[in-house]
Amino acid sequence: MPWQAEEAPDPRLLAFNEPLAAELGLDAAALRTPEGLRLLVGTAVPDGARPVAQAYSGHQFGGYSPRLGDGRALLLGELVDDAGTVRDLHLKGSGRTPFARGGDGLAAVGPMLREYVVSEAMHALGIPTTRALAVVATGRAVRRETVLPGAVLARVASSHLRVGSFQYARATDDVDLLRRLADVAIARHHPAAADAANPYLALFEAVLAVQASLVARWMLVGFVHGVMNTDNMTISGETIDYGPCAFMEAYDPDTSFSSIDEGGRYRYGYQPLAAEWNLARLAEALLPLIDEDPDRAVALAVESLKTFRPRYDAALADGMRAKLGLPAGADDAVVADLVTDLLALLQAGHVDWTSFFRRLADAARGDAEPVRLLVLDLAGLDGWLERWRALSPDGAAMDRVNPVYIPRNHLVEEALDAATGGDLALLDELLDVLGSPFEERPDHERYAEPAPRDFGAAFRTFCGT
Ligand code: AMP
Ligand code: MG
Repeated sequence: MPWQAEEAPDPRLLAFNEPLAAELGLDAAALRTPEGLRLLVGTAVPDGARPVAQAYSGHQFGGYSPRLGDGRALLLGELVDDAGTVRDLHLKGSGRTPFARGGDGLAAVGPMLREYVVSEAMHALGIPTTRALAVVATGRAVRRETVLPGAVLARVASSHLRVGSFQYARATDDVDLLRRLADVAIARHHPAAADAANPYLALFEAVLAVQASLVARWMLVGFVHGVMNTDNMTISGETIDYGPCAFMEAYDPDTSFSSIDEGGRYRYGYQPLAAEWNLARLAEALLPLIDEDPDRAVALAVESLKTFRPRYDAALADGMRAKLGLPAGADDAVVADLVTDLLALLQAGHVDWTSFFRRLADAARGDAEPVRLLVLDLAGLDGWLERWRALSPDGAAMDRVNPVYIPRNHLVEEALDAATGGDLALLDELLDVLGSPFEERPDHERYAEPAPRDFGAAFRTFCGT
């Protein structure tokens, strides 16, 4: 639905992504001017652009909402980047839209900077994601539990098509509309599907494949999305919606941070199951396109859905093999046993996921002391190390896939608190460190360390604030 942003009384640039602006062919200097900031908060619209608020449906924590919004977001338009790819430029926190329901349509500085930091960290880790172009403080107060400074995030995505977009189209009962949506998704994200015998089944399988790979990537870095509702799952395979997400420190499949995820539906270890569940909802939405005969459509979709788990398992196993620095020739079953035993060791010892793999590379190079400092069960670890070393792990290869720096919760909170109070120095430093996560820097030890004990256990994230 065509829509416009609300006025921002006093726009101030808090974070700006110069490299991304360049990729998009945007003039960074011009965007920093007062007129440029008006564009970044949506109050000045370029000639010919027609911003829209996009409706979608979705299952939130398993319950279906026929119309969710975008309640506080505007699609400004599409840009062609320097690689020739069409990208959406989108604003979050730009005011109420017709889909806002009871919400105020606004966003606070802290959560928008949080999305900026974490999504850019994910990008630097090599994980498909929406990107952050800018966060602009609006100068308007936002009422939450307290009164907070408001902000707009300018976000870039290869599109904002979600599983929920298909659920919305399906719910109209207009099969032609659903087909047009599917054709757009195929052309934009999965063009090979157009040549398949059954293009819409091929579209489903392509989304399934990119999601299996994506969720495996999350698991490998310890990312907990926190709100894997069907409206927060993209058709492109990019991570979207950085509300309550956070990174796991001590390895535990039950890790969950979100204050509203009381049942732990979206806990770390359940993410592949949540993804599979969401894909079943996508398949349901696509059924009328998959086959005219409903029974046959279901049978085909079910067969395809069964390929999710093996695809995910293979992606995860490949990733774990790489994290352990093991050559392609190492026996699959031997590596699988090593991984199982390692996970048990890490969980029992509450070992920090990120530090462990990074320090393990030193053990591959002959110095096991750094990793031994992380583990209490030294007999167990030493036995495991001996089996692992017998497979000739490559320490240099490990350093290329195991990050030193992830957006640790205490560091993110510290930087956001300072930025909300007007001091951007810590935020800039954090962004800088997270921009090269595999490169160890002198004098930045604190960025590599887990949260102090009194912080970690109680840490909770909040959604949609
Ligand atoms: P999420 O759970 O963050 O994916 O949000 C689900 C829906 O709620 C989206 O359509 C959002 O645009 C909408 N929403 C979240 N916060 C607000 C708000 N403050 N005002 C209006 N809509 C909101
Ligand atoms: Mg969302």
